[in-house]
Amino acid sequence: MKTKIEWGAAVRALEGWREGLSGGAADNADGGSNAAMPSVSTVAERYRQDAWAVLVSTIISLRTKDAVTLVSSRKLLGKAPTPQKLLKLDEAETAALIYPAGFYKTKAANLHKIAGILIDKYGGEPPPDMDALLALPGVGRKTANLVLIEAYGMDGICVDTHVHRISNRLGAVSTKTPEETEFALRETLPQKYWKRINALLVLYGQNVCKPVRPRCELCVITRHCAFYKSATGSTSVSR
Ligand code: SF4
Repeated sequence: MKTKIEWGAAVRALEGWREGLSGGAADNADGGSNAAMPSVSTVAERYRQDAWAVLVSTIISLRTKDAVTLVSSRKLLGKAPTPQKLLKLDEAETAALIYPAGFYKTKAANLHKIAGILIDKYGGEPPPDMDALLALPGVGRKTANLVLIEAYGMDGICVDTHVHRISNRLGAVSTKTPEETEFALRETLPQKYWKRINALLVLYGQNVCKPVRPRCELCVITRHCAFYKSATGSTSVSR
């Protein structure tokens, strides 16, 4: 069942929590980074929002822990800071550079195909266009949204497993897939929060609202959460 969320209050609470994150209040048993930014945002900042770097790191990040994404992205982008330089490597070298990222051989093959397409059709730059990005091999809505948001500063909602799960637990949406969640959030989440919600909920999902046994006792948004209210029978504001 869907619930109307006070998004302003929820986002403020999550941002306050994130500010305290580097103080050590949260741990990460999933092995991800404890930095207050997801890996792709860290890469985007390190490479000054370069669209190729964001695209490469986002592809590497799929089904891969943040710590591995950071190392693999740094290794590959060190050798291949442009699509042209990537094509000077062979696929096996690319795969070795991004190993142990999940599906590293498939990702290497896709990155080589993408590099060729970018050079042939887009002057060597990932295009700032959702449909054109979605036409690239191995690029889904999550990747395309992240490139548009992180590299081009455009409004988009990047929905990964954490955003999908937490949005459903909160009751903000009632959906079965991340893609459905993206479109449902576009209807309910004020646009001014679109770009910020991914980084906030990814970190929250890694540290507090975990897939199995969410740490509701540490949660700063219990009063917005349908799952919590249903589990505790709470109808009042508890935090
Ligand atoms: S109350 Fe629990 S289920 Fe709800 S958002 Fe917080 S951690 Fe997740």
